[in-house]
Amino acid sequence: MYIYNYVVRVKINKKYFERKIDVKTSQDLRQILKRIEGKGYGAYKDITGQYGFDMFDLFCDHIQSDPFAPPSRIRVRVPRKFSRIPEELFNTRVKKVALEDHFTREISSAARKISEGRRGTGKSGLVECISFGQEILARTSVIINKEYIEARLSMGMPAVGRRIASREAEEMFFTELPGIVEKAMIFKNINTSRAEEQVSLSVDQEHIRRKLGDMNLVCFVANGSILPRESGISDKPLKSEAVIPFKSPKSLEVSIQLPSGKVATGMGIPRGITMITGGGYHGKSTLLRAIERGVYNHIPGDGREYVITVSDAVKIRAEDGRFVEKVDISLFIDNLPGRKDTSRFSTENASGSTSQAANIVEAIEAGTSLLLLDEDTCATNFMIRDARIQKLIRKEYEPITPFIDRTRQIYEQKGISTIVVIGGAGDYFDVVDRVVMMKEYIPIEVTNEAREIAYEYRTERQVEIKDIPIDVKDRTPSPDTFRLQYVKKDKVKARGTDSISVGHDEVDLGDVEQLVDRNQTSAIALIIKYMSRFIDGRNNLTQVIDKVYDEIKERGLDAISPFYPLHPGDMAMPRRHEVFAAINRYRKLKVL
Ligand code: ADP
Ligand code: MG
Repeated sequence: MYIYNYVVRVKINKKYFERKIDVKTSQDLRQILKRIEGKGYGAYKDITGQYGFDMFDLFCDHIQSDPFAPPSRIRVRVPRKFSRIPEELFNTRVKKVALEDHFTREISSAARKISEGRRGTGKSGLVECISFGQEILARTSVIINKEYIEARLSMGMPAVGRRIASREAEEMFFTELPGIVEKAMIFKNINTSRAEEQVSLSVDQEHIRRKLGDMNLVCFVANGSILPRESGISDKPLKSEAVIPFKSPKSLEVSIQLPSGKVATGMGIPRGITMITGGGYHGKSTLLRAIERGVYNHIPGDGREYVITVSDAVKIRAEDGRFVEKVDISLFIDNLPGRKDTSRFSTENASGSTSQAANIVEAIEAGTSLLLLDEDTCATNFMIRDARIQKLIRKEYEPITPFIDRTRQIYEQKGISTIVVIGGAGDYFDVVDRVVMMKEYIPIEVTNEAREIAYEYRTERQVEIKDIPIDVKDRTPSPDTFRLQYVKKDKVKARGTDSISVGHDEVDLGDVEQLVDRNQTSAIALIIKYMSRFIDGRNNLTQVIDKVYDEIKERGLDAISPFYPLHPGDMAMPRRHEVFAAINRYRKLKVL
Protein backbone atom coordinates (compact mmCIF):
# COMPACT_ATOMS: atom_id res chain seq x y z
CA MET A 1 0.00 0.00 0.00
CA TYR A 2 2.84 2.41 0.75
CA ILE A 3 4.80 3.86 -2.12
CA TYR A 4 7.91 3.64 -0.03
CA ASN A 5 9.11 4.13 3.50
CA TYR A 6 12.09 6.16 4.38
CA VAL A 7 13.97 7.22 7.44
CA VAL A 8 15.00 10.80 8.01
CA ARG A 9 17.72 11.94 10.30
CA VAL A 10 16.89 14.99 12.36
CA LYS A 11 19.54 16.96 14.22
CA ILE A 12 18.41 18.28 17.58
CA ASN A 13 20.93 19.82 19.96
CA LYS A 14 23.80 18.28 18.05
CA LYS A 15 22.28 14.82 18.41
CA TYR A 16 20.76 12.90 15.56
CA PHE A 17 17.37 11.26 15.81
CA GLU A 18 15.86 8.95 13.30
CA ARG A 19 12.31 9.25 12.22
CA LYS A 20 10.50 6.85 9.98
CA ILE A 21 8.24 8.44 7.43
CA ASP A 22 5.63 6.44 5.64
CA VAL A 23 4.77 8.10 2.42
CA LYS A 24 1.34 7.14 1.32
CA THR A 25 -0.91 8.40 -1.41
CA SER A 26 -4.11 10.30 -0.94
CA GLN A 27 -5.97 7.10 -1.88
CA ASP A 28 -4.45 5.42 1.17
CA LEU A 29 -5.87 8.19 3.30
CA ARG A 30 -9.29 7.64 1.76
CA GLN A 31 -9.13 3.96 2.57
CA ILE A 32 -8.10 4.52 6.15
CA LEU A 33 -10.99 6.97 6.57
CA LYS A 34 -13.41 4.40 5.16
CA ARG A 35 -12.06 1.74 7.47
CA ILE A 36 -12.51 3.82 10.61
CA GLU A 37 -15.96 5.21 9.73
CA GLY A 38 -18.22 5.19 12.79
CA LYS A 39 -15.52 3.89 15.11
CA GLY A 40 -14.54 5.47 18.42
CA TYR A 41 -12.76 8.79 17.99
CA GLY A 42 -9.39 7.36 19.04
CA ALA A 43 -9.14 5.45 15.76
CA TYR A 44 -8.48 8.78 14.00
CA LYS A 45 -4.88 8.35 15.19
CA ASP A 46 -4.50 5.89 12.31
CA ILE A 47 -4.31 8.71 9.81
CA THR A 48 -1.11 10.10 11.35
CA GLY A 49 1.50 10.26 8.62
CA GLN A 50 2.36 11.79 5.28
CA TYR A 51 0.28 11.58 2.11
CA GLY A 52 1.08 12.57 -1.43
CA PHE A 53 -1.78 14.47 -3.08
CA ASP A 54 -1.65 15.60 -6.69
CA MET A 55 -0.63 19.13 -5.90
CA PHE A 56 0.73 18.93 -2.38
CA ASP A 57 1.99 16.79 0.43
CA LEU A 58 -0.20 16.47 3.47
CA PHE A 59 1.36 15.81 6.86
CA CYS A 60 -1.01 14.69 9.59
CA ASP A 61 1.38 15.39 12.43
CA HIS A 62 -0.78 15.31 15.48
CA ILE A 63 -4.29 13.94 15.57
CA GLN A 64 -6.43 14.95 18.52
CA SER A 65 -7.68 12.19 20.78
CA ASP A 66 -11.07 13.69 21.49
CA PRO A 67 -13.49 15.95 19.60
CA PHE A 68 -13.17 18.51 22.40
CA ALA A 69 -9.36 18.39 22.65
CA PRO A 70 -7.26 21.07 20.93
CA PRO A 71 -7.62 20.52 17.18
CA SER A 72 -5.35 18.29 15.14
CA ARG A 73 -2.25 19.79 13.62
CA ILE A 74 -1.53 19.28 9.97
CA ARG A 75 0.82 20.73 7.39
CA VAL A 76 0.23 21.24 3.71
CA ARG A 77 3.30 21.55 1.53
CA VAL A 78 3.04 22.78 -2.04
CA PRO A 79 6.13 22.45 -4.26
CA ARG A 80 7.32 25.67 -5.77
CA LYS A 81 6.83 24.41 -9.28
CA PHE A 82 3.11 24.62 -8.53
CA SER A 83 2.99 27.63 -6.24
CA ARG A 84 5.25 29.66 -8.52
CA ILE A 85 6.25 32.23 -5.97
CA PRO A 86 8.81 34.61 -7.47
CA GLU A 87 12.09 34.33 -5.65
CA GLU A 88 12.69 38.06 -5.52
CA LEU A 89 9.79 38.26 -3.07
CA PHE A 90 11.58 36.18 -0.44
CA ASN A 91 15.30 36.35 -1.14
CA THR A 92 16.16 38.37 1.99
CA ARG A 93 15.16 37.78 5.59
CA VAL A 94 12.98 40.90 5.73
CA LYS A 95 11.15 40.01 2.52
CA LYS A 96 10.67 36.39 3.58
CA VAL A 97 9.09 37.45 6.88
CA ALA A 98 6.80 39.89 5.06
CA LEU A 99 5.75 37.37 2.42
CA GLU A 100 5.15 34.55 4.91
CA ASP A 101 3.07 36.95 6.99
CA HIS A 102 1.06 37.87 3.90
CA PHE A 103 0.44 34.23 3.00
CA THR A 104 -0.63 33.57 6.58
CA ARG A 105 -3.35 36.17 6.12
CA GLU A 106 -4.44 34.75 2.76
CA ILE A 107 -4.55 31.16 4.01
CA SER A 108 -6.24 32.16 7.22
CA SER A 109 -9.05 33.96 5.48
CA ALA A 110 -9.49 31.19 2.89
CA ALA A 111 -9.66 28.63 5.72
CA ARG A 112 -12.12 30.73 7.68
CA LYS A 113 -14.45 31.08 4.70
CA ILE A 114 -14.35 27.38 3.99
CA SER A 115 -14.99 26.12 7.47
CA GLU A 116 -17.63 28.68 8.33
CA GLY A 117 -20.84 27.25 9.64
CA ARG A 118 -19.72 23.63 9.56
CA ARG A 119 -19.87 22.28 13.05
CA GLY A 120 -20.55 18.93 14.64
CA THR A 121 -19.34 17.85 18.02
CA GLY A 122 -16.54 19.86 19.59
CA LYS A 123 -14.31 21.48 16.98
CA SER A 124 -15.63 19.27 14.18
CA GLY A 125 -15.01 20.67 10.75
CA LEU A 126 -12.80 23.53 11.81
CA VAL A 127 -9.93 24.42 9.49
CA GLU A 128 -7.82 27.23 10.79
CA CYS A 129 -4.56 29.02 10.31
CA ILE A 130 -3.54 31.33 13.15
CA SER A 131 -5.13 34.68 13.91
CA PHE A 132 -3.08 37.85 13.76
CA GLY A 133 -3.17 41.59 14.18
CA GLN A 134 -1.79 44.65 12.44
CA GLU A 135 1.89 43.77 12.82
CA ILE A 136 4.04 41.99 10.28
CA LEU A 137 5.85 39.39 12.35
CA ALA A 138 8.10 36.42 11.77
CA ARG A 139 5.70 33.51 12.15
CA THR A 140 5.77 29.73 12.12
CA SER A 141 2.38 29.47 10.40
CA VAL A 142 3.77 29.57 6.86
CA ILE A 143 7.24 28.65 5.64
CA ILE A 144 8.45 29.64 2.20
CA ASN A 145 11.73 28.52 0.69
CA LYS A 146 13.14 27.63 -2.68
CA GLU A 147 11.56 24.18 -2.64
CA TYR A 148 8.07 24.75 -1.31
CA ILE A 149 5.51 26.76 0.59
CA GLU A 150 4.18 25.05 3.69
CA ALA A 151 1.14 26.02 5.73
CA ARG A 152 0.56 24.77 9.24
CA LEU A 153 -3.11 24.39 10.00
CA SER A 154 -5.37 23.32 12.81
CA MET A 155 -8.12 20.95 11.87
CA GLY A 156 -11.00 19.71 13.99
CA MET A 157 -11.49 16.09 12.96
CA PRO A 158 -15.24 15.72 12.56
CA ALA A 159 -17.32 13.58 14.89
CA VAL A 160 -20.89 12.67 15.51
CA GLY A 161 -21.03 12.40 19.26
CA ARG A 162 -17.76 10.62 19.93
CA ARG A 163 -17.82 8.57 16.74
CA ILE A 164 -15.74 9.25 13.67
CA ALA A 165 -17.55 11.02 10.85
CA SER A 166 -15.44 9.84 7.94
CA ARG A 167 -17.48 11.33 5.18
CA GLU A 168 -17.05 14.82 6.61
CA ALA A 169 -13.35 14.18 7.14
CA GLU A 170 -13.06 13.09 3.53
CA GLU A 171 -14.70 16.27 2.41
CA MET A 172 -12.26 18.29 4.48
CA PHE A 173 -9.19 16.54 3.12
CA PHE A 174 -10.31 16.09 -0.46
CA THR A 175 -12.39 19.19 -1.16
CA GLU A 176 -11.67 21.88 1.39
CA LEU A 177 -7.90 21.53 1.73
CA PRO A 178 -7.33 21.47 -2.04
CA GLY A 179 -9.63 24.49 -2.16
CA ILE A 180 -7.45 26.37 0.31
CA VAL A 181 -4.31 25.37 -1.58
CA GLU A 182 -5.79 26.50 -4.87
CA LYS A 183 -7.03 29.80 -3.53
CA ALA A 184 -4.34 30.85 -1.12
CA MET A 185 -1.11 28.98 -1.84
CA ILE A 186 -0.79 29.34 -5.60
CA PHE A 187 0.84 32.67 -6.21
CA LYS A 188 -1.18 33.84 -9.16
CA ASN A 189 -4.45 33.21 -7.31
CA ILE A 190 -3.66 35.36 -4.31
CA ASN A 191 -3.80 39.12 -4.07
CA THR A 192 -0.40 39.48 -5.69
CA SER A 193 -0.26 43.26 -5.64
CA ARG A 194 -1.04 43.28 -1.92
CA ALA A 195 1.70 40.68 -1.38
CA GLU A 196 4.22 42.70 -3.36
CA GLU A 197 3.18 45.85 -1.55
CA GLN A 198 3.72 44.24 1.84
CA VAL A 199 7.16 42.98 0.85
CA SER A 200 8.32 46.29 -0.56
CA LEU A 201 6.81 48.17 2.40
CA SER A 202 8.70 45.96 4.86
CA VAL A 203 11.95 46.65 3.05
CA ASP A 204 11.24 50.39 3.32
CA GLN A 205 10.34 50.07 7.00
CA GLU A 206 13.53 48.21 7.86
CA HIS A 207 15.48 50.79 5.91
CA ILE A 208 14.00 53.63 7.97
CA ARG A 209 14.68 51.76 11.20
CA ARG A 210 18.31 51.25 10.21
CA LYS A 211 18.64 54.88 9.15
CA LEU A 212 17.40 56.21 12.50
CA GLY A 213 20.80 55.60 14.09
CA ASP A 214 22.72 57.46 11.34
CA MET A 215 20.33 60.37 11.59
CA ASN A 216 20.64 60.51 15.38
CA LEU A 217 16.93 59.82 15.74
CA VAL A 218 14.96 57.49 17.98
CA CYS A 219 11.76 57.49 16.00
CA PHE A 220 10.12 58.70 12.84
CA VAL A 221 6.45 59.49 12.26
CA ALA A 222 5.59 60.17 8.63
CA ASN A 223 3.30 62.96 7.56
CA GLY A 224 -0.08 61.58 6.64
CA SER A 225 0.07 58.74 9.17
CA ILE A 226 -3.23 57.77 10.76
CA LEU A 227 -2.51 57.22 14.43
CA PRO A 228 -5.86 56.85 16.24
CA ARG A 229 -7.35 53.37 16.47
CA GLU A 230 -10.90 52.26 15.92
CA SER A 231 -11.56 51.66 19.61
CA GLY A 232 -9.96 50.66 22.87
CA ILE A 233 -10.31 47.03 21.88
CA SER A 234 -9.53 47.27 18.18
CA ASP A 235 -6.12 47.99 16.74
CA LYS A 236 -7.51 48.80 13.30
CA PRO A 237 -7.22 52.41 12.09
CA LEU A 238 -9.99 54.81 13.04
CA LYS A 239 -11.97 55.52 9.91
CA SER A 240 -13.96 58.72 10.19
CA GLU A 241 -14.15 62.15 8.63
CA ALA A 242 -12.88 63.53 11.89
CA VAL A 243 -9.51 61.77 11.70
CA ILE A 244 -6.67 64.21 11.42
CA PRO A 245 -3.61 62.83 9.61
CA PHE A 246 -0.26 63.39 11.28
CA LYS A 247 1.75 66.43 10.27
CA SER A 248 5.26 67.13 11.51
CA PRO A 249 6.27 70.49 12.92
CA LYS A 250 8.65 72.10 10.40
CA SER A 251 11.45 72.24 12.96
CA LEU A 252 11.52 68.45 13.36
CA GLU A 253 10.80 67.51 9.77
CA VAL A 254 13.16 65.11 8.03
CA SER A 255 13.02 63.22 4.73
CA ILE A 256 14.27 59.73 4.09
CA GLN A 257 14.89 58.26 0.66
CA LEU A 258 13.45 54.74 0.56
CA PRO A 259 14.59 51.65 -1.36
CA SER A 260 11.23 51.57 -3.17
CA GLY A 261 12.01 54.96 -4.69
CA LYS A 262 9.52 56.77 -2.47
CA VAL A 263 10.55 59.51 -0.09
CA ALA A 264 9.16 59.51 3.44
CA THR A 265 8.83 62.90 5.09
CA GLY A 266 7.79 63.38 8.67
CA MET A 267 8.75 64.07 12.24
CA GLY A 268 12.08 62.74 13.42
CA ILE A 269 12.53 62.75 17.17
CA PRO A 270 16.24 63.10 17.96
CA ARG A 271 18.02 61.26 20.74
CA GLY A 272 17.83 62.92 24.13
CA ILE A 273 14.82 63.71 26.25
CA THR A 274 11.61 64.68 24.56
CA MET A 275 8.48 65.83 26.31
CA ILE A 276 5.13 65.49 24.59
CA THR A 277 2.66 67.84 26.16
CA GLY A 278 -0.69 69.42 25.33
CA GLY A 279 -4.23 69.64 26.57
CA GLY A 280 -6.26 66.62 27.58
CA TYR A 281 -7.77 64.73 24.65
CA HIS A 282 -5.44 66.37 22.13
CA GLY A 283 -3.79 63.14 21.02
CA LYS A 284 -0.69 62.77 23.25
CA SER A 285 -1.24 59.17 24.27
CA THR A 286 -2.27 58.22 20.75
CA LEU A 287 1.04 59.51 19.43
CA LEU A 288 3.05 57.72 22.12
CA ARG A 289 1.18 54.48 21.55
CA ALA A 290 1.97 54.63 17.84
CA ILE A 291 5.63 55.24 18.69
CA GLU A 292 5.73 52.29 21.09
CA ARG A 293 4.22 50.02 18.42
CA GLY A 294 6.74 51.42 15.92
CA VAL A 295 9.22 48.78 17.07
CA TYR A 296 7.20 46.51 14.75
CA ASN A 297 6.38 46.84 11.07
CA HIS A 298 2.73 47.35 10.21
CA ILE A 299 0.70 46.04 7.31
CA PRO A 300 -0.33 48.19 4.35
CA GLY A 301 -3.42 50.22 5.19
CA ASP A 302 -2.72 50.30 8.92
CA GLY A 303 -2.04 54.03 9.03
CA ARG A 304 1.19 53.50 10.98
CA GLU A 305 3.17 52.00 8.09
CA TYR A 306 5.79 54.71 8.41
CA VAL A 307 5.82 55.12 12.15
CA ILE A 308 9.17 53.58 12.91
CA THR A 309 10.92 53.40 16.27
CA VAL A 310 14.30 51.99 17.29
CA SER A 311 13.74 48.29 17.78
CA ASP A 312 14.80 48.19 21.43
CA ALA A 313 12.45 50.90 22.73
CA VAL A 314 10.66 49.90 25.92
CA LYS A 315 7.39 51.23 27.25
CA ILE A 316 7.59 51.87 30.96
CA ARG A 317 4.61 52.04 33.25
CA ALA A 318 3.57 51.56 36.82
CA GLU A 319 2.39 48.04 37.45
CA ASP A 320 1.42 47.66 41.06
CA GLY A 321 1.06 44.12 42.27
CA ARG A 322 3.82 42.78 40.07
CA PHE A 323 6.48 40.40 41.30
CA VAL A 324 10.05 41.71 41.49
CA GLU A 325 13.13 39.60 42.14
CA LYS A 326 16.35 41.19 43.40
CA VAL A 327 16.36 44.24 41.16
CA ASP A 328 18.60 47.13 42.13
CA ILE A 329 16.14 50.01 42.27
CA SER A 330 18.34 52.15 44.53
CA LEU A 331 18.70 54.57 41.65
CA PHE A 332 15.13 55.64 42.33
CA ILE A 333 14.27 54.29 45.71
CA ASP A 334 16.20 53.88 48.92
CA ASN A 335 15.48 54.26 52.59
CA LEU A 336 12.26 52.29 52.50
CA PRO A 337 10.43 52.04 55.81
CA GLY A 338 11.90 49.09 57.69
CA ARG A 339 15.23 49.69 55.87
CA LYS A 340 14.38 47.18 53.21
CA ASP A 341 17.44 46.84 50.99
CA THR A 342 16.66 48.37 47.62
CA SER A 343 19.86 47.33 45.86
CA ARG A 344 18.45 43.81 45.77
CA PHE A 345 14.80 44.61 45.97
CA SER A 346 12.32 41.75 45.94
CA THR A 347 8.59 41.76 46.46
CA GLU A 348 5.56 39.69 45.66
CA ASN A 349 3.49 42.84 45.47
CA ALA A 350 5.20 45.98 44.21
CA SER A 351 3.70 49.43 44.66
CA GLY A 352 3.13 51.82 41.76
CA SER A 353 6.47 53.56 42.20
CA THR A 354 8.60 50.49 43.01
CA SER A 355 7.14 48.59 40.07
CA GLN A 356 7.89 51.48 37.76
CA ALA A 357 11.43 51.72 39.08
CA ALA A 358 11.92 47.97 38.56
CA ASN A 359 10.53 48.24 35.03
CA ILE A 360 13.10 50.90 34.13
CA VAL A 361 16.04 49.07 35.68
CA GLU A 362 15.06 45.81 34.00
CA ALA A 363 14.73 47.59 30.66
CA ILE A 364 18.27 48.92 31.09
CA GLU A 365 19.47 45.43 32.05
CA ALA A 366 17.87 43.95 28.93
CA GLY A 367 19.48 46.67 26.81
CA THR A 368 17.40 49.56 25.58
CA SER A 369 18.13 52.87 23.92
CA LEU A 370 14.73 54.48 24.41
CA LEU A 371 12.30 54.63 27.32
CA LEU A 372 8.68 55.60 26.62
CA LEU A 373 6.49 56.90 29.43
CA ASP A 374 2.94 58.19 29.50
CA GLU A 375 1.70 60.03 32.56
CA ASP A 376 -1.63 58.22 32.16
CA THR A 377 0.04 55.00 33.30
CA CYS A 378 2.80 56.36 35.53
CA ALA A 379 2.87 56.74 39.30
CA THR A 380 2.73 60.49 39.98
CA ASN A 381 5.09 60.27 42.97
CA PHE A 382 7.58 58.45 40.78
CA MET A 383 7.52 61.17 38.13
CA ILE A 384 7.76 64.33 40.23
CA ARG A 385 7.96 65.88 43.67
CA ASP A 386 7.07 69.53 43.39
CA ALA A 387 8.34 72.37 45.58
CA ARG A 388 5.48 72.32 48.03
CA ILE A 389 5.63 68.57 48.57
CA GLN A 390 9.37 68.87 49.04
CA LYS A 391 8.71 71.38 51.83
CA LEU A 392 6.12 69.17 53.50
CA ILE A 393 7.78 65.77 53.09
CA ARG A 394 11.48 66.25 53.60
CA LYS A 395 13.84 64.13 51.54
CA GLU A 396 14.83 62.04 54.59
CA TYR A 397 11.28 60.75 54.71
CA GLU A 398 10.80 60.23 51.00
CA PRO A 399 12.47 57.09 49.64
CA ILE A 400 11.82 58.10 46.04
CA THR A 401 14.16 60.06 43.80
CA PRO A 402 11.70 60.99 41.09
CA PHE A 403 12.26 60.28 37.41
CA ILE A 404 12.60 64.01 36.68
CA ASP A 405 15.90 63.96 38.58
CA ARG A 406 17.23 60.84 36.91
CA THR A 407 16.25 61.09 33.28
CA ARG A 408 19.23 63.26 32.32
CA GLN A 409 21.68 60.99 34.11
CA ILE A 410 20.24 57.98 32.34
CA TYR A 411 20.75 59.74 29.02
CA GLU A 412 24.14 61.21 29.78
CA GLN A 413 25.67 58.14 31.41
CA LYS A 414 23.97 55.38 29.46
CA GLY A 415 22.92 57.06 26.22
CA ILE A 416 19.34 56.02 26.82
CA SER A 417 16.83 58.51 25.46
CA THR A 418 13.36 59.18 26.85
CA ILE A 419 10.08 60.25 25.31
CA VAL A 420 7.69 61.22 28.05
CA VAL A 421 4.08 62.36 27.80
CA ILE A 422 3.31 64.94 30.45
CA GLY A 423 0.47 67.41 30.40
CA GLY A 424 0.53 68.28 34.06
CA ALA A 425 4.02 69.11 35.33
CA GLY A 426 5.92 72.06 33.85
CA ASP A 427 8.89 71.36 36.11
CA TYR A 428 9.95 68.94 33.39
CA PHE A 429 10.81 71.93 31.15
CA ASP A 430 14.08 72.16 33.08
CA VAL A 431 15.33 68.71 32.20
CA VAL A 432 14.16 67.99 28.65
CA ASP A 433 15.86 68.70 25.34
CA ARG A 434 12.69 69.52 23.49
CA VAL A 435 8.99 69.99 24.03
CA VAL A 436 6.39 68.98 21.47
CA MET A 437 2.86 70.16 22.09
CA MET A 438 -0.13 68.32 20.66
CA LYS A 439 -2.81 70.78 19.63
CA GLU A 440 -5.95 69.30 18.14
CA TYR A 441 -3.93 66.22 17.12
CA ILE A 442 -1.22 68.23 15.38
CA PRO A 443 2.22 68.49 17.00
CA ILE A 444 3.94 71.85 17.38
CA GLU A 445 7.45 72.26 18.69
CA VAL A 446 7.36 74.66 21.66
CA THR A 447 10.84 74.15 23.09
CA ASN A 448 11.70 77.85 23.06
CA GLU A 449 8.43 78.94 24.66
CA ALA A 450 8.92 76.30 27.34
CA ARG A 451 12.44 77.56 28.01
CA GLU A 452 11.22 81.15 28.30
CA ILE A 453 8.49 80.11 30.69
CA ALA A 454 10.98 78.11 32.73
CA TYR A 455 13.20 81.20 32.90
CA GLU A 456 10.41 83.57 33.82
CA TYR A 457 8.65 81.32 36.33
CA ARG A 458 11.56 79.72 38.13
CA THR A 459 10.62 76.62 39.96
CA GLU A 460 11.41 76.42 43.61
CA ARG A 461 11.74 72.69 43.48
CA GLN A 462 15.10 71.34 44.53
CA VAL A 463 16.95 68.84 42.40
CA GLU A 464 17.14 65.79 44.62
CA ILE A 465 20.08 64.09 43.15
CA LYS A 466 22.71 62.01 44.76
CA ASP A 467 25.18 61.53 42.02
CA ILE A 468 25.27 57.77 41.86
CA PRO A 469 26.74 56.23 38.78
CA ILE A 470 24.12 54.25 36.92
CA ASP A 471 25.36 50.75 37.14
CA VAL A 472 22.79 48.11 36.38
CA LYS A 473 24.09 44.72 37.41
CA ASP A 474 23.36 41.52 35.57
CA ARG A 475 21.33 39.00 37.49
CA THR A 476 21.97 35.27 37.46
CA PRO A 477 18.90 33.07 37.84
CA SER A 478 19.11 30.10 40.14
CA PRO A 479 18.50 26.68 38.58
CA ASP A 480 16.83 25.45 41.77
CA THR A 481 13.43 26.94 41.13
CA PHE A 482 13.50 27.40 37.38
CA ARG A 483 12.97 23.79 36.46
CA LEU A 484 10.62 23.94 33.58
CA GLN A 485 12.26 21.02 31.81
CA TYR A 486 9.99 18.89 33.94
CA VAL A 487 6.80 20.79 33.27
CA LYS A 488 4.75 18.87 30.72
CA LYS A 489 4.59 20.53 27.34
CA ASP A 490 0.82 20.81 27.41
CA LYS A 491 1.05 22.61 30.76
CA VAL A 492 2.73 25.60 29.15
CA LYS A 493 0.03 27.82 27.74
CA ALA A 494 -0.65 31.33 26.61
CA ARG A 495 -3.84 33.19 27.22
CA GLY A 496 -4.22 35.91 24.61
CA THR A 497 -1.57 38.53 25.21
CA ASP A 498 -2.44 38.80 28.88
CA SER A 499 -0.79 35.88 30.58
CA ILE A 500 0.94 32.58 30.29
CA SER A 501 0.69 29.65 32.60
CA VAL A 502 3.58 27.33 33.26
CA GLY A 503 2.63 24.32 35.32
CA HIS A 504 0.60 25.73 38.19
CA ASP A 505 2.03 29.22 37.90
CA GLU A 506 0.46 32.17 36.21
CA VAL A 507 2.66 34.88 34.68
CA ASP A 508 0.74 38.12 34.32
CA LEU A 509 1.70 40.00 31.17
CA GLY A 510 -1.33 42.27 31.01
CA ASP A 511 0.76 45.40 31.52
CA VAL A 512 3.51 44.42 29.11
CA GLU A 513 2.17 46.71 26.45
CA GLN A 514 4.50 45.95 23.58
CA LEU A 515 3.41 42.35 23.52
CA VAL A 516 1.01 42.67 20.62
CA ASP A 517 0.14 39.28 19.17
CA ARG A 518 -1.18 36.22 20.97
CA ASN A 519 1.16 34.07 18.92
CA GLN A 520 4.06 35.97 20.42
CA THR A 521 2.74 35.03 23.84
CA SER A 522 2.59 31.38 22.77
CA ALA A 523 6.21 31.63 21.67
CA ILE A 524 7.23 33.28 24.95
CA ALA A 525 5.59 30.49 26.93
CA LEU A 526 7.62 27.92 25.01
CA ILE A 527 10.80 29.98 25.14
CA ILE A 528 10.54 30.16 28.91
CA LYS A 529 10.27 26.42 29.13
CA TYR A 530 13.02 25.93 26.56
CA MET A 531 15.46 28.29 28.25
CA SER A 532 15.49 26.31 31.50
CA ARG A 533 18.29 24.26 30.00
CA PHE A 534 20.54 27.31 29.95
CA ILE A 535 19.84 28.25 33.54
CA ASP A 536 22.81 26.68 35.22
CA GLY A 537 23.74 29.14 37.95
CA ARG A 538 26.39 30.77 35.76
CA ASN A 539 24.60 32.34 32.80
CA ASN A 540 22.96 35.63 33.65
CA LEU A 541 19.50 36.49 32.36
CA THR A 542 20.60 38.27 29.23
CA GLN A 543 23.04 35.48 28.39
CA VAL A 544 20.25 32.94 28.79
CA ILE A 545 18.04 34.90 26.41
CA ASP A 546 20.93 35.38 23.98
CA LYS A 547 21.43 31.64 23.85
CA VAL A 548 17.80 31.05 23.01
CA TYR A 549 17.88 33.70 20.30
CA ASP A 550 21.08 32.24 18.87
CA GLU A 551 19.31 28.91 18.47
CA ILE A 552 16.30 30.58 16.92
CA LYS A 553 18.59 32.36 14.50
CA GLU A 554 20.23 29.11 13.55
CA ARG A 555 17.24 26.79 13.42
CA GLY A 556 14.22 29.05 13.13
CA LEU A 557 11.50 29.80 15.62
CA ASP A 558 10.26 26.21 15.22
CA ALA A 559 13.26 25.08 17.23
CA ILE A 560 11.85 26.08 20.59
CA SER A 561 8.72 24.02 20.23
CA PRO A 562 8.57 20.81 22.21
CA PHE A 563 6.88 19.33 19.13
CA TYR A 564 9.87 20.13 16.96
CA PRO A 565 10.34 19.16 14.18
CA LEU A 566 6.58 18.84 13.80
CA HIS A 567 3.87 21.45 13.18
CA PRO A 568 4.61 24.25 15.64
CA GLY A 569 2.47 26.57 13.59
CA ASP A 570 1.13 28.98 16.14
CA MET A 571 4.07 31.12 17.08
CA ALA A 572 5.16 34.63 16.20
CA MET A 573 8.51 36.12 17.04
CA PRO A 574 8.60 38.09 20.29
CA ARG A 575 11.24 40.70 21.02
CA ARG A 576 13.82 39.75 23.59
CA HIS A 577 12.44 42.53 25.80
CA GLU A 578 9.08 40.82 26.15
CA VAL A 579 10.74 37.48 26.88
CA PHE A 580 12.79 39.24 29.52
CA ALA A 581 9.63 40.85 30.88
CA ALA A 582 7.96 37.46 31.18
CA ILE A 583 10.86 35.89 33.08
CA ASN A 584 10.94 38.86 35.42
CA ARG A 585 7.29 38.32 36.23
CA TYR A 586 7.56 34.58 36.74
CA ARG A 587 7.09 34.20 40.47
CA LYS A 588 9.40 31.21 40.71
CA LEU A 589 12.35 33.21 39.41
CA LYS A 590 15.07 33.29 42.04
CA VAL A 591 18.19 35.32 41.46
CA LEU A 592 21.45 34.15 43.06
P1 ADP B 1 -4.56 62.67 25.36
O1 ADP B 1 -3.58 61.61 25.74
O2 ADP B 1 -3.90 63.90 24.86
O3 ADP B 1 -5.52 62.97 26.46
P2 ADP B 1 -5.58 60.74 23.45
O4 ADP B 1 -4.37 60.44 22.67
O5 ADP B 1 -6.02 59.75 24.44
O6 ADP B 1 -5.44 62.17 24.15
O7 ADP B 1 -6.71 61.03 22.38
C1 ADP B 1 -8.00 61.40 22.73
C2 ADP B 1 -8.99 60.91 21.70
O8 ADP B 1 -8.74 61.51 20.43
C3 ADP B 1 -8.96 59.41 21.48
O9 ADP B 1 -10.27 58.93 21.41
C4 ADP B 1 -8.26 59.25 20.15
O10 ADP B 1 -8.70 58.10 19.46
C5 ADP B 1 -8.64 60.51 19.41
N1 ADP B 1 -7.61 60.92 18.46
C6 ADP B 1 -6.28 60.89 18.67
N2 ADP B 1 -5.61 61.33 17.60
C7 ADP B 1 -6.55 61.66 16.68
C8 ADP B 1 -6.48 62.17 15.34
N3 ADP B 1 -5.32 62.43 14.75
N4 ADP B 1 -7.66 62.36 14.69
C9 ADP B 1 -8.83 62.07 15.29
N5 ADP B 1 -8.96 61.61 16.53
C10 ADP B 1 -7.83 61.38 17.24
MG1 MG C 1 -3.39 60.57 27.51
